[in-house]
Amino acid sequence: MPKINPFRSAMRQLTRAAEVLQLEPDILAILKKPYKILDVTMPVRMDDGSIKVFEGFRVQYNDARGPYKGGLRFHPQVDRDEVKALAFWMCIKNAVIGIPYGGAKGGITVDPKKLSKGELERLSRKFIERIAHNIGPETDVPAPDVNTDPEIMAWMVDEYSKIAGKFTPAVITGKPLSLGGSEGREEATGFSGVEVLKLAAQELKLKKNATVAVQGFGNVGHYFALFASRNKFKVVVLSDSKGGIYSARGLDIAKVAEWKKQMGQLKGYPGTAEITNEKLLELPVDVLVPAALENQIHEKNARKIKAKSIIEMANGPTTPDADPILWKRKILVVPDVLSNAGGVASSFLEWSQNRSGYYLSKQEVLKRLQKYMLEAWQNVWNTQKAYGKDLRTAAYVLALTRIAEAIKGRGL
Ligand code: GLU
Repeated sequence: MPKINPFRSAMRQLTRAAEVLQLEPDILAILKKPYKILDVTMPVRMDDGSIKVFEGFRVQYNDARGPYKGGLRFHPQVDRDEVKALAFWMCIKNAVIGIPYGGAKGGITVDPKKLSKGELERLSRKFIERIAHNIGPETDVPAPDVNTDPEIMAWMVDEYSKIAGKFTPAVITGKPLSLGGSEGREEATGFSGVEVLKLAAQELKLKKNATVAVQGFGNVGHYFALFASRNKFKVVVLSDSKGGIYSARGLDIAKVAEWKKQMGQLKGYPGTAEITNEKLLELPVDVLVPAALENQIHEKNARKIKAKSIIEMANGPTTPDADPILWKRKILVVPDVLSNAGGVASSFLEWSQNRSGYYLSKQEVLKRLQKYMLEAWQNVWNTQKAYGKDLRTAAYVLALTRIAEAIKGRGL
C-alpha cells in the first residue's frame, strides 16, 4: 500500500470541489487550515510500575456551523496530519447530513490491544484531563472512532464531569445507555450505511442476493454486514486486521461474530477460504465496502476493482488519484461523508436527548436516521446531476455551500 498523506488528500478533494463550485478564495483559504490543534502528551503509570508517555491530538477544524464534533481514535498510525484530515472530513460530513455541528477529530498514537484495561482507562482519563478546558457540550463533543467504544466514552464522561464539578453527559456521545447513551447508537453507522446501500442498489438495479465484500469487522463493518444480510444482500467476504474469509454461499454474520469473539480473529472460520485484505478489494462482487482504514483504494489497484459500487464506510478509504479512475470506469463510489454519516447523526440525536432530557426509543432513532440518510442521498444526488461530477465532489459542493454560508453569515 503506498504511503499517502491523508491531509494532502483531503485538501486535494477540497480544491477539486472548490473549483467546481467557484468557492470564494477567502473561504477556501479559511478551510485549508484547522482553527485549533491541541497537541498533548500523557504520562501513564503502566501495570509494571513504569511510566510511559503517550502522544495525542484534538484537531478543532471549523465551528462555523456549530460546536466542534467528531470521534477519538486509538491507533498506532495516528499522527497530526491524519487527525487533521479526519477533522476536516467531519466538517464536510456534518454539513452533508445537515446537523448543526462543525468538525473535529482526536486520536492517541497507541495500540490499545497491547494495554491492560487499567492502563487503557488511565490513558483515556489523562487525555480528557489534558483537553477538558477546550471541550464541552457547546464547544466540542467527542465520540468513538477506530478502537474506542462506549466503555472508554464512559470513563471520559466521568473524568470530564469531575473537572466540571457536575455530571455532564452531553460532552461526549457514544456513551453506554446507563450514562445517557442513545438507543440505536451502537448500530447506527452500519444501519445507516445499509440505507445508502439500498438506495445505490436501486440506482444500479442490483438484484436480490447481490454480493457484498466488507473490509473491516469493527463496530461499523459488523453492523453493516448484519443489516446488509437482513436486507437480502449476500455478504461473501468479511475481514479484520489479520485477514479475510470468503464463502460463495454467503456468511452468517451472527455466527461469524460469535467466532471472532471466541477466537480473536475471523481467519479459520469453518467452511471459508482465506483472502488477504488487499486481494478482497479486487474480487468480482457487486458491492465493495471498505470499513477499516484510509488509503485502501489507490492509483495502483483502482483499475483492478470489479465491483459495480463502492460504499465507503471507513473514513478516507479512496485516494484522490483513484477517484477519477473509478469515475471513468463507471463504478459508483458513495463517499464516506455521506455513507457513514449516520454515526454522527445518531450522536446528534444522543446529544439532543441529553440536553432535553427526553429520550427516544430505538425505533424512533432508527426511523430518524433513515430520514436523514434519504434526504442527504437525494440532496447529493441532485447536486451531482446539477454539476455532472462524481458523488464525492457533489457531496463536497453541497457541504461547502452550507459551510460558506455559515462562515459568511457570522461575519469574517
Ligand atoms: N467516528 C464517527 C465518524 O467518523 C462518529 C463521530 C461522532 O459521532 O462524533 O463519523
